[in-house]
Amino acid sequence: MSGLVIRGGRVVDPESGMDAVGDVALMDGKVVAVGTGLPGAEREIDATGLVVAPGFIDLHAHGQSVPADRMQAFDGITTTLDLEAGVMPVASWYRRQAENGRILNYGAATNWAFARIGAMVGINEESSLEAFGRAMRDPRWMDNVSTDSEQSGIIERIAQGLDEGGIGIGILNAYAPGAGVQELTAICQLAADRNVPTFTHIAYMANRDPKSAAEAYVRLIGYAGATGCHMHICHFNSSSKTDVERCEKLIRKAQAQGLPITVEAYPYGTGSTVVSAAFFSDPEFESRNDATYDQVQVVATGHRFKDREDLLAAQAQDPSQLVLWHVLDTDNNPRHADMLDLSVLYPGGAIASDAMPWSMPDGSTYNGDAWPLPAEATSHPRSSGTFTRFISRWVRERQALSLIDGIAKCTLIPAEILAASTPAMRDKGRLKPGADADVVVFDFETLVDRAEFTAMNRPAEGVKHLIVSGQPVIADGIMDVAARPGQPVRRPLAGKE
Ligand SMILES: [Zn+2]
Repeated sequence: MSGLVIRGGRVVDPESGMDAVGDVALMDGKVVAVGTGLPGAEREIDATGLVVAPGFIDLHAHGQSVPADRMQAFDGITTTLDLEAGVMPVASWYRRQAENGRILNYGAATNWAFARIGAMVGINEESSLEAFGRAMRDPRWMDNVSTDSEQSGIIERIAQGLDEGGIGIGILNAYAPGAGVQELTAICQLAADRNVPTFTHIAYMANRDPKSAAEAYVRLIGYAGATGCHMHICHFNSSSKTDVERCEKLIRKAQAQGLPITVEAYPYGTGSTVVSAAFFSDPEFESRNDATYDQVQVVATGHRFKDREDLLAAQAQDPSQLVLWHVLDTDNNPRHADMLDLSVLYPGGAIASDAMPWSMPDGSTYNGDAWPLPAEATSHPRSSGTFTRFISRWVRERQALSLIDGIAKCTLIPAEILAASTPAMRDKGRLKPGADADVVVFDFETLVDRAEFTAMNRPAEGVKHLIVSGQPVIADGIMDVAARPGQPVRRPLAGKE
């Protein structure tokens, strides 16, 4: 018997609507009972005064490593997926995660950008941040419309990734804004044929036409309507900058007409990306984005760019170095705070972190085993505090939505976005007999994200217990550094559906 009972907590399950004191019994990696007065088990957790909820599901996390998992564990996350970028090749990536061991359940989409890099530049390296940066030295895959034979090569690589169990297609369109509508229509058609979603970082993010965020969203709406493909919008909060009101209306109207479009957002006004992202290279970057170069800041050094020349020099020196883009000043500008609300509180939208890898001062990605993380490791506060920030600020402090509705945005809603294409997700994001034993137990009164732009690697506080696939990862607020219970989330392999 390896049973565990979480006793006497406030059990919140958005699927059943339960929000009441009760017990949750786990056995062999599954929830076996939810109720009151459940019989004793080998192990018990006293959850008196604590919230017991399905573990949070992050649809958008680029870290995908033991250190990234640990920071996300304290944010209440039990399943962390890289769907916006994705990976390539898919099969070897899943194999490597299983060999190395993971703390949280993990998964990834198949990566359109690397399919382009392979088919148009001939670089067929395994996807990584570093390989992405190297590939940016040859701009053909970013700027050009693909030829017919290149398009066949792109489709072939993506289809292979889906055959290998990739969760849909990650479309980093903003990094290859030169891709044409014909190619993207073909990609979306493939996704529709395979019944998988696409996860898109829209092609353009400027406030003004041409190549505005609005233009990119109208294209995305067009792909949904023209192909029937499920289009998932990544980080709705940051993709349209200060033009979010206009873009939100477009998406709402498209959804109201039944188009298969879903949305996610993270609760910060600052974005993060590589310095070579195409939108920074726009000669009219400042005027077209209502932005200034000093809003863009190097993660590792804190340097804010002085002007275009300063930024271009950094691109040439190290294309994959990570930068922050401070877009919305939500602390000081009430209009900006309202803009963030529009995306974070978007009805039916998921919370998703866009968590970044942890970087060392020399720009290398930290994948080591030290806990706590090295003091000099940097990322973005969202890599440590997205879900706890949302629950503590929007739900507890501002009461912008109820606890159960807030938890739904972190659990059931992301699970449902994937449920049609990835059957494994039907057992996640809920607490009922037969569901996966992924559970977070937290103190709602003291829950707080502690990561700041000057101290990114502070774990969130308030998550007292975290159980992944039935195994405790955090117990009484302490991480078990030996635990590696994370399981792969993937679609059934080709031929086995
Ligand atoms: Zn991202």
